[in-house]
Amino acid sequence: MNHDTYRGFEPENVVVPAHHFFAGKPSTTGPTISVIRPSDGLTHAQLPCADAQLIDAAVRSAVEAQSDWAALKPRQRGRLLHRLADLVDKHAEELAQLEAVVSSRPIVECRTIDVPTAAEYLRYYGEWCDKVEGMVTASGDDAVSLVLREPYGVVAIITPWNFPLVLATWKLAPALAAGNAVVIKPSELTPFSITRVAELAVEAGLPAGLLNVVHGDGPTAGRALTTHPDVAMVSFTGSTAVGGRIMSDVGMTGIKPLSLELGGKNPQLVFADCGDLNAVADHIAWGITRNAGQLCYAGSRLVVERPVAEALLNRIAERMGQLRSGPTWSEETTLAPIISQRQADRIARIIDQSVSEGASVHTGGTLFEQGGGCFFQPTLLLEMNGRMTGFREEIFGPVLGVQVFDTINEGLRLAQHPRYGLTASVFTRDGAKALKAAKTLRTGTVWINRWGRTADMITSPFGGYGQSGFGKESGRAGVEGFMRQKAVWIDLAEHAELAHAHGPSGARP
Ligand code: NAD
Repeated sequence: MNHDTYRGFEPENVVVPAHHFFAGKPSTTGPTISVIRPSDGLTHAQLPCADAQLIDAAVRSAVEAQSDWAALKPRQRGRLLHRLADLVDKHAEELAQLEAVVSSRPIVECRTIDVPTAAEYLRYYGEWCDKVEGMVTASGDDAVSLVLREPYGVVAIITPWNFPLVLATWKLAPALAAGNAVVIKPSELTPFSITRVAELAVEAGLPAGLLNVVHGDGPTAGRALTTHPDVAMVSFTGSTAVGGRIMSDVGMTGIKPLSLELGGKNPQLVFADCGDLNAVADHIAWGITRNAGQLCYAGSRLVVERPVAEALLNRIAERMGQLRSGPTWSEETTLAPIISQRQADRIARIIDQSVSEGASVHTGGTLFEQGGGCFFQPTLLLEMNGRMTGFREEIFGPVLGVQVFDTINEGLRLAQHPRYGLTASVFTRDGAKALKAAKTLRTGTVWINRWGRTADMITSPFGGYGQSGFGKESGRAGVEGFMRQKAVWIDLAEHAELAHAHGPSGARP
């Protein structure tokens, strides 16, 4: 179907909140940049960009709001996060369109996955507000030792463009549940959906200034935020290169904890005993074409045992061929646009380089323009090896590099990546082999007989090893990561007589 024949929504009708939102109010201060729709290459709105002064004002509003927030009873905080989740549900269609219009996220997925997931994160962490507990640790009769958990204060959140709403909510929901205030700088390419959520937070009754959104590029607005002296912690999702820069900026200007969710080069390890090849092909094709491969945990490397290699590749190629490219506002679109011409050119360059290094294109491999947007044909790259550019670098496009193996150990060796360690998938019906692979692979997550998160994975920690970063999101670890621990020792020595009545206490150093 031609993408013009049915539209999930009219992009021209989407009115976006093109402003910063802090201290409970919008602000349009700052020079503007154009926000482009990747689906048709047209400018949708002008976005104001923050300088250091504006960032300072936003952080100060967060400092003020944080003390009010931390003073609330935990259950009250939980109720307010639930109220925000209800408002996200109420405004679901509006948020889905704000998300889709300037991003690569197809409207159907925004409606069925991204917006409901954002609401669920708010609810899940709303429930954690009164469940994070301290500890009493071992001590002699002469003391009691408590461990208290406390919020950091103001947390800076910096997010990328590929899943703007979900990635911001993964962070802000646990950060707020832990008692912090938040200043978010979303990607300047996809700034609108989270700005609307910040407006809804005030409507839900969260203190003005608790959830703030500032806009601008990384080197100016982002850097001013991460290095601000009143920002006590930085939680970043984005590329490994920028994660390293933030570590260095923060290190040069003061010490504060960081959580870094970075890039991935994730293997899909398929053994010959994987069972139904059609089901496996469904997972692998979806794992590399979802959001056109613009996904940190895209399964971008297929490592497959020789007896099933050819049959599996044919099935994956067939599925890739069935995808329909189109704008994000069409309900027919299953192959998303590439976020920018620059990113599309980068994908093409990595493929060309890999081919010049000895790889061969089995399927796809071509950049094409449609309706003003940039698209990339889903691609299978064969004959890959560890020295090739397409193996070493995160491509961030619908490109699956393929390596074939003959023994279990060879498969496990090929599946390891020397730098990245975000996720891995293992397909086998042999439980012992699956566990052996799960224990061997150096990645923060291993999926057995599936690719990708399900809604339930909100409960389990997500985060990388190696150059894929550190710090965990989701689950208990997600909320605990936004809290610090304080040890409190209560000396009972003056009650020593009482203690001696019950026998001697341990000697103190
Ligand atoms: P990016 O690193 O270019 O930008 C991410 C954010 O950082 C943007 O908001 C940008 O403005 C900001 N930024 C840039 N320079 C900065 C600086 N010096 N100081 C502070 N902020 C700065 O990434 P991107 O192109 O937006 O997103 C794609 C990358 O994100 C990929 O590498 C992908 O793997 C990664 N990612 C990781 C995860 C994960 O959970 N591990 C999830 C999604 C995306």
